[in-house]
This record gives sequence, structure tokens and C-alpha cells, in this order.
Amino acid sequence: MSDNWKPRTKMVHSGTRRSQYNEVSEAIFMTQGFVYDSAEQAQARFVQAERDEFIYARYGNPTVAMFEDRIAALEGAEDAFACASGMAAVNGALMAVVSAGDHVVAARALFGSCLYILDDILPRMGVHVTLIDGTDLDAWRAAVTDKTKVCFFESVSNPGLEVVDIAAVSDIAHAHGALVIVDNVFATPVYSRAIEQGADLVVYSATKHIDGQGRSLGGVILGARDIIRGPVESYMKHTGGSLSPFNAWIMLKGLETIELRVRAQTETAYALADALQGHAALSRVSYPGHSSHAQYDLVQRQTGKGGTVVTFELAGGQTAAFDFLNKLQVAVISNNLGDAKSIATHPATTTHQRLPQDQKDLLGISDGLIRLSVGLEDPQDLIADIMQALQ
Ligand SMILES: *Cc1c(COP(=O)(O)O)cnc(C)c1O
Repeated sequence: MSDNWKPRTKMVHSGTRRSQYNEVSEAIFMTQGFVYDSAEQAQARFVQAERDEFIYARYGNPTVAMFEDRIAALEGAEDAFACASGMAAVNGALMAVVSAGDHVVAARALFGSCLYILDDILPRMGVHVTLIDGTDLDAWRAAVTDKTKVCFFESVSNPGLEVVDIAAVSDIAHAHGALVIVDNVFATPVYSRAIEQGADLVVYSATKHIDGQGRSLGGVILGARDIIRGPVESYMKHTGGSLSPFNAWIMLKGLETIELRVRAQTETAYALADALQGHAALSRVSYPGHSSHAQYDLVQRQTGKGGTVVTFELAGGQTAAFDFLNKLQVAVISNNLGDAKSIATHPATTTHQRLPQDQKDLLGISDGLIRLSVGLEDPQDLIADIMQALQ
């Protein structure tokens, strides 16, 4: 394995471990445990296991280790811990480093389950949480103090597509000794440079672009080895949120094609955002890669690309939005994203249904809002489908 390989080469080869059969395609080690040569070896392994000395699948497994090393190579992180879902990763990253009495500052524009952890679970555990407008650097400066342990945010928010400045928030956090944890799903691992920009821990739902074909749940926490193999591994391996070897294999094979898929999906998203601009049925179109996005310059600096999700608001509210969804023939109505299939979601009545109206207003989740995750269909077919459904 060469550190100088370009990402596409790394995504095909990094992390590979071959068994005595020298298989070409990575094996699925569907085993919960491992046999020791002797009682002494078992004892030694429990005292200090090396990276490729396995004990129990909740602690680690060869297929899972292949996935961890491969995604770490893409992210430019020293190490990674694979988790059972994106939420196991978000929860694990936070729980691994906070204690009762600590202070956490988080951007308010969050995926519903992330908000539940920050707004409900952490306060119940005695952690003080301040929620702010993540796009406002003065709000970060005002909220972060020497008592702050963690700054948490989605680098591109779901579904508002608000972009948080990773480098600037990291400077503020680090000046006060706080850790920066970034949920980077919408940025995608392909365009992320979050570690280089200052993030201490980067979290992905692997369910999204890493699987990329909507088959299984998974997640991953990436960062410096001392945090990942220290508090993160301790928390995850003892609390049960580890990734199964079978799902790790799906994610591992997903990484082989992630660059090609995400690049193609992103190109289609650009074309769709262009085609939707100024459409008479729409009151708003939002795409981080389009020059009309409020933080276009930041997007250019941070990832350089707009990603695979476009949102737009139908002027006719919920009736028009439902009418649009029900007319779709290529895109499906569902709630995943990053899938090969284009997926249209009505956040106000599904993913963000439970939010009170004032929160929805604050996050721009209006009755007419559609979140479109752009898939791998031919761009002309997808855009034609959206246009006919808007008529
Ligand atoms: C989907 C998602 C999650 C949760 O991931 P799961 O794999 O569904 O647990 C967390 N954060 C963001 C931004 C997401 O889009």
C-alpha cells in the first residue's frame, strides 16, 4: 500500500487483508470470535491485542478492519472505528469524549436524531448544550468558552443545506481547547477535507454514499489514532454499536466505486439545479454548488463541490409538493440519500415531522420543501421526470 496513491487507487486496494487462500475479492469473516493457539496466547491478547489480533467481533473483525483502513485512507485520517449505523457513530463520537458537567456547542440545523442526542440525551446526562446558528461565526465565538468540551455540527445541514465553516469553527474551538466533531454526510467522503481543515473527529452515516445502493446501515468515526483507539474504541466496543462483518463488506465494496458514483451524482445535481432555476412552480431552489447559494464561496473553499442533494420549494405548499411527488416516475418517494436511485423526500411530513412549527420555520422546512437525493440514472431522464412532475 502506498501513501502516494491517488484516492481511486486507494479505494480499490487500501486495507486489503488476504487469507491463506489469497482471494482477489475481500473475504467476509462472518465470525463472532477467534481461536487462540494456546491459553497463554488468549491471555496475552486480552492484555494487549495488536491491530490484526482479533478477540471478538464487537471489538474488531478482519472484514471490519479492512473497511476501517480503507475509509481512513480516503478521509486522510490516522484511524477509524466502524459503527452499526450513522447514529451509532454520532452517539459514540459524543459519548466517548463528554462527561457530566461538560459544555457542548452545536449548530441548531441538524438531522432529527442528531438533534435528539444533543437536545434530549446529553442534557439528561448532565451535559450542558448550547444550540446556535452554525453559519454565524460570531455565535460560535460567543458560545464557546474554556468550559466547552465539544463543538458539533453537520458541515452541510439536512435538509436546509446550510454550510458551516469547518476551518473557522475549528480555530475558535481549538483556542478554547474544545474538540470539533463534524457530521460530514452531505459533504461526502469523496469531497471532504475536514481533517485537514481542523476537525478532530469526522462522522459518516455509511448508509448513505458509502453503501450507495441503499442496502444496509452503517457508520464510521474517523480521527487521530489516540482518540479512535482510545476513548472511541472503548466506548463503542463495550456498548455494542459495532458494525457487523457482513455490512462492513458491503461498505468496503461500496468504497471501490464511491468516487465514480458520487462524481456522477454530483454532475447530475449541478445540471438539475441549473434546470430548476427560475421555474415558475418554485419559490426557492437551493444547491451548495450553485452560485445562487448564500455560502457559495465557502463551499468552493471547503469541498469545491455541491454534493448530491438539491432542495426546492413548491410555491403551492404541501398540496403542490404531494402532487409533485405522486407524479414522479423515475425518482422514488423515500427517505434515504446517496442511493443509486434518486429519492424525493417531503421533510415536513416525514423526516422532520416531529419538529415543532417554530423549529421548522427556523430551519426553513416549509410545507412546499422537497429534498431530492440525486441518483445514478441518466441525467436527461431524471431532469425530464422532475420537469413533468412540476407541470
Ligand atoms: C442519515 C444521517 C444520519 C444517521 O445515519 P443512519 O445510518 O441512518 O443512522 C446522521 N446524520 C446525517 C446528516 C444523516 O443524513
